[in-house]
Amino acid sequence: MNKTFNKSFTQQETIPEAGIERAVEILRGGRLHRYNVIEGETSETALLEQEYAEYQGSKYCLACASGGYALHIALKAAGMQPGEPVITNAFTLAPVPGAIDNAGGKVVLAEIDENYCVDLKHLEEVMQSSKSRFFMMSHMRGHLADMDAVTALCDKYNVMLIEDCAHTMGASWNGKKSGSFGKVACFSTQTYKHMNSGEGGLLISDDPEIMARAIMHSGSYMLYERHLAAPDPSVFKDIKFDTPNYSGRMDNLRASILRVQLPTLDENCKRWNDRYYAAEQALAVSPMIELANRPEQEYFVGSSIQFRVKDIDEKRIPDFIQQCAERGVELKWFGGGEPQGFTSRFDSWRYIEETAELPQTLKILSNTFDLRIPLTFDLDDMTLIASIIIEVLDTLPRI
Ligand SMILES: *Cc1c(COP(=O)(O)O)cnc(C)c1O
Repeated sequence: MNKTFNKSFTQQETIPEAGIERAVEILRGGRLHRYNVIEGETSETALLEQEYAEYQGSKYCLACASGGYALHIALKAAGMQPGEPVITNAFTLAPVPGAIDNAGGKVVLAEIDENYCVDLKHLEEVMQSSKSRFFMMSHMRGHLADMDAVTALCDKYNVMLIEDCAHTMGASWNGKKSGSFGKVACFSTQTYKHMNSGEGGLLISDDPEIMARAIMHSGSYMLYERHLAAPDPSVFKDIKFDTPNYSGRMDNLRASILRVQLPTLDENCKRWNDRYYAAEQALAVSPMIELANRPEQEYFVGSSIQFRVKDIDEKRIPDFIQQCAERGVELKWFGGGEPQGFTSRFDSWRYIEETAELPQTLKILSNTFDLRIPLTFDLDDMTLIASIIIEVLDTLPRI
């Protein structure tokens, strides 16, 4: 009998009981809008911003409707002008180029390296050729590039770094938190990320003017004084008249369930890593499997794992995925010609005006597979999943 796995790869843990209770209280009170407070009351959203800024060690924080929305207003608040080129790494999720497009920018893609990080050499080339003032760096699937080298390049070419930390909430490079390297950083609290409010985003910065503009963009009307992690009201003096309202606030209901998750975020990151290492160790047994190298300076959050299969005939890949699926193991493949689920590749973003040839990224993604690691899996589950993958691989003909 073949072993099978029967848990769901999309099942996250439940919201902590205290969060459910607080959410019900808010529903009973009816004041869900972040600025709907009574005399002397501070909203859940403002408190979340204050607590998340403290967690990140940033001066300011703004909660908004989604991670993609945060990326969009980050560019606007940073002063990007219509038609300006914005660099991003080619391996990322669709909302990143989408945010650049939404802000009126032109997407410029940089190659990735074998560890799924931006290729520093190619990054420098596109910085030179595009003359872009912005690098929206996506720490895709939680892989942190050499952040010292990235910030040095940004300094050299006078490029503003904006970090997409959708998969690196809780991670750090050389002891410094992911999200504190750039001028602005954006996080997502959508269900598949590290804190879960269904939808949601957090934007942090230490720059008072960028933050004031982001707050105005998010739809604060003239109520910015009700924020706790915002710059001094004097900073808004002129900004409030020339910053359009792109309505995309977070509400108190979501903020309340995030607030109860924040104190256990670091503990959960460790739990993700235990599962990641269990899977990594079990997968590493197969000579056909190639895993990413994780540098010493990188403290990552293993909420997913990527691996490449060596010596596999590309025509056999659908078969490999199918057989794994039949045994309950859901693999995502970034090499497929047609985008599926979340795995759209850069060449399917056809609205990008000038798509460069990115042979290196295509080659790396052609045999890259991805496994989600929800916290509802335990360590034995990870070992079982890995052994099923290896068993299936062993039945496939080699080239
Ligand atoms: C999820 C995600 C986002 C955007 O988050 P949403 O909250 O879904 O808009 C951005 N970048 C990456 C890499 C993501 O995975």
